[in-house]
Amino acid sequence: MRPVPHADTSNLTGIARAAGRLFYPRTTHQVARLVRVANRHGRTIYVVSTGLNYGYGGKSPPRRTDLLLDLRRMNRILNAGEISRANPVAVLEPGVTQQDLYDYLQRHAPDLTFNVTGSAAATSILGNALDRGVGYFGARKEDVFGLEVVTGAGTVLRTGFRRLDEKSPLATSHPYGLGPMLDGLFFQSNLGIVTSACFRLMPRPPREIAVSLVLRDAQRLAEFIDVLAELKRDGTMGAVTHVANRERSQASLLSGITRYLEQLGLPPAQVARESQRALRLASPGEWTSLGALGGSPAQLRAALATVRRRMRGLARVRVITERRLDFAFGLLHALRALPPARALAAALAAVRPLHVLALGQPTDAAVDNLLWKFGASGLSATELDASNCGLLFINPALPMDGATVVRVLDKLQDARTQPLYITINIESATSLVAVINLLFDRSQPGEQEAALACSDKLYAVLRAEKLEVYRARADMMEQVVAPGDPFWETVKALKDALDPNGVLAPGRYNLK
Ligand SMILES: Cc1cc2nc3c(=O)[nH]c(=O)nc-3n(C[C@H](O)[C@H](O)[C@H](O)COP(=O)(O)OP(=O)(O)OC[C@H]3O[C@@H](n4cnc5c(N)ncnc54)[C@H](O)[C@@H]3O)c2cc1C
Repeated sequence: MRPVPHADTSNLTGIARAAGRLFYPRTTHQVARLVRVANRHGRTIYVVSTGLNYGYGGKSPPRRTDLLLDLRRMNRILNAGEISRANPVAVLEPGVTQQDLYDYLQRHAPDLTFNVTGSAAATSILGNALDRGVGYFGARKEDVFGLEVVTGAGTVLRTGFRRLDEKSPLATSHPYGLGPMLDGLFFQSNLGIVTSACFRLMPRPPREIAVSLVLRDAQRLAEFIDVLAELKRDGTMGAVTHVANRERSQASLLSGITRYLEQLGLPPAQVARESQRALRLASPGEWTSLGALGGSPAQLRAALATVRRRMRGLARVRVITERRLDFAFGLLHALRALPPARALAAALAAVRPLHVLALGQPTDAAVDNLLWKFGASGLSATELDASNCGLLFINPALPMDGATVVRVLDKLQDARTQPLYITINIESATSLVAVINLLFDRSQPGEQEAALACSDKLYAVLRAEKLEVYRARADMMEQVVAPGDPFWETVKALKDALDPNGVLAPGRYNLK
């Protein structure tokens, strides 16, 4: 393995700590050897799977390290050929991307699907899960079990029943194993390097539709969230419904709308004017949500009827299917000489690439929007770090209670010093998470400092409310870990046991 002299760790947060020499191991054996060498020579290591941790620190470690291990070349689906509806588990190495798995399933098991995120198609499934990312069907952590890990001491450990012979029928099927469940130790931690894991797939329902809900009166957001919570709890809307504020949904749609109008050859002033009109059509409310329903045609009809009944008077319900979108777009595009039809066609052109996420198809559309916004449309979705885009995520975990959510959002709005692009994700039956983007231009002096100061203010509000973020940026680690807290002291004791020399990712979700 020939290292690259210095890894580039510049990233959207604008805070880049050196990660040292860059290695691309291909096997668990190579990873374990590097960890053992680091132990012998007192070196530290940071690890990424594909390193596209946009808005959380990218490839930059919380504290500087000597070596960066990029696992993108460990990109095998270890049980390829054995995956089927009867065996809906893929054993993935960390370099397997959303697109890789999607392509594999399309070719070999098209009746299976999986939990996709809105980030680039080239992001790692395990890298995202290990940072406790959230997909359109739920928290990715819930999909992962049976890990193979190189601990900080260089030992190869397998969790759950993967510790049994690899030919054991339990190795990749039984998610719990026997005895303490060690899996959780390796999520949001610095105790080991995960070199493969089992990933749960799901049968594709006979029919799936995306459902968009537009809240009629912003004053009723708490009620809206409570109804969505009930639909989640009773299983009507099992997938994660994403509720976006106007700033967020318009930011997601503006690039698609503008691009459509530009392609028609309209002059810039007209594009700007008509974009606003199309935005109002595509995102007419203060809060708009996107969720999914799946099942047999009869189940779908029943679920949709329930959604409509509970949302009556509260939100406008729109059903989005590929066929409907294609048909409506085709018709309106044909009528594009008429301004109202043109505006609607532009709105649909923007919605089309995004709604597929709710149906389990990865797309670069959301990242492309940011590239466009920062004048870097020529870059690919894996190159966002090279644009001027600046992004800080500050993401509160919240109880599933509309009144609390609204109270906290109001306080965050009062404390903010710049626009908040907010999505509320109805994540589990008892809790939800909010994803708040602070956007800035890294080429403009002072903007990064201002965004960081805003993030600090928002974080102070959360802590005053006795709340916490569910996922922290690399630059926030010292804010989130607390010496003397029995929880973090225990995490440190685990570090002493599994990584006694403190080789791996010092300071990542750990005092050590
Ligand atoms: C427009 C946009 C949309 C986004 N949408 C989403 C979304 O819907 N959901 C979401 O969760 N995120 C989202 N993100 C954030 C981010 O881009 C994704 O979470 C992305 O998947 C993380 O990058 P990655 O998969 O390359 O993981 P990596 O960067 O490889 O890993 C993330 C972190 O996990 C740790 N890690 C990685 N691999 C290992 C390993 N093998 N062993 C131990 N530790 C490891 C490292 O500390 C690393 O920094 C979005 C970002 C943008 C800009």
